[in-house]
Amino acid sequence: MKKKKHAFKPESLMMSYGYKPSLSEGAIKSPIFLTSTFVFKTAEEGKAFFEVAYGLREQYPDEEPGLIYSRINNPDLEILEDRLTLWDKAEDCAVFESGMSAITTVLLEFLKPGDLLLHSIPLYGGTDHFIHHFLPKIGVHTVGFKPHQRRKEIEQILDDTGKADRLAMIFIETPANPTNALIDIACCKKIADTRSSADKKVYLAVDNTFMGPIWQQPLKHGADFSIYSATKYIGGHSDLIAGACCGSNEVITRVKFLRTLLGNMASPHTGWLLMRSLETLKVRMEKQAKNARRVAEFLDNHPKVEKVYYLGLIKPGTRAHEIFERQYKSTGAMVSFDIKGGEAEAFRFINALKLIKLAVSLGGTESLVEHPATMTHAGVDKAHLAEVSVTDKLVRLSIGVEHYKDLLWDMEQALEQV
Ligand SMILES: *Cc1c(COP(=O)(O)O)cnc(C)c1O
Repeated sequence: MKKKKHAFKPESLMMSYGYKPSLSEGAIKSPIFLTSTFVFKTAEEGKAFFEVAYGLREQYPDEEPGLIYSRINNPDLEILEDRLTLWDKAEDCAVFESGMSAITTVLLEFLKPGDLLLHSIPLYGGTDHFIHHFLPKIGVHTVGFKPHQRRKEIEQILDDTGKADRLAMIFIETPANPTNALIDIACCKKIADTRSSADKKVYLAVDNTFMGPIWQQPLKHGADFSIYSATKYIGGHSDLIAGACCGSNEVITRVKFLRTLLGNMASPHTGWLLMRSLETLKVRMEKQAKNARRVAEFLDNHPKVEKVYYLGLIKPGTRAHEIFERQYKSTGAMVSFDIKGGEAEAFRFINALKLIKLAVSLGGTESLVEHPATMTHAGVDKAHLAEVSVTDKLVRLSIGVEHYKDLLWDMEQALEQV
């Protein structure tokens, strides 16, 4: 029989890819390389490693970048980064000590004074704050658009700024937090392309925390960056803070260089924990999505619930449904809903829950509940929030891996008390 070349699926490679047991006494798992610096065999080797690290010359075809110092590179981070490239089919990846450090490092590297940043609304609170309160201090202009707006309207918003020729980046978050509103990545790519010129490329960055890396691959739709808060699904156990950014060799080389200067890389211990998490990422997310479907159906049929925001409830034939079909492989594990009433009713429900814990963050093995208007989104402009359906009656759930019957029981008894 002719031997066919077989390509393993990412989930089959999460236990071994990028790690050579023979370099670590045969240990099946990568040790945690708790070391600040690495010993060079010779002065010539040290010189060669630095030439590559500082970009003084191109790497030779069969040359491996040498380990120098843990702010620049560390085995736990390198193996983790190699594994993270697989889902996104990226050339390279950089991991960070938080999702915010991944986001801010990309923005700082690819924006300069006078530039314009176009972004989707709503954004994660920390990202929103950085864009509206920090970027203006260094002379970067920003303008936002909302999920329902189409290409023509977005182009109009750009032109109305009078600075469209300085557009340098489009930054989007899809599905948007906390309402699961969808943004069309391919449409943003078209805008980026038409606004690019021979000497200025407009980059497209996607915060892929909610559905990536398993169910949404932004690079496939033309994005230059797929960015993560690895604190959420990738870490998945609510026990660490980390971030990641995937993209081409060209852009990630720039991102890693700034990371080396800012020193905001993940620690070896965090890198090791994330490698452990990656082994179960797919099974966790699949179970969470299954549970979320049960939860969404329950809420959708409950008399005390006004509206459910969940990807599985998007109506066929709508523009959102067309984006959903093209961009996503699952309906995900985030469910938000409007309770009948307002803040008082929402709080009564939240306070009555026994199994589902009241905490911000998401994507972990345990189910969490929070009230966006007074918690995660408390700092966002109220007028903006109302326009994107974030009101006092909105409750956000991140569904975990518990038995779904326990989740339904908990919500039923809590709703009874409203
Ligand atoms: C949590 C989160 C972030 C920030 O990540 P940290 O790891 O907390 O720094 C950014 N974007 C989204 C969508 C998030 O949920």
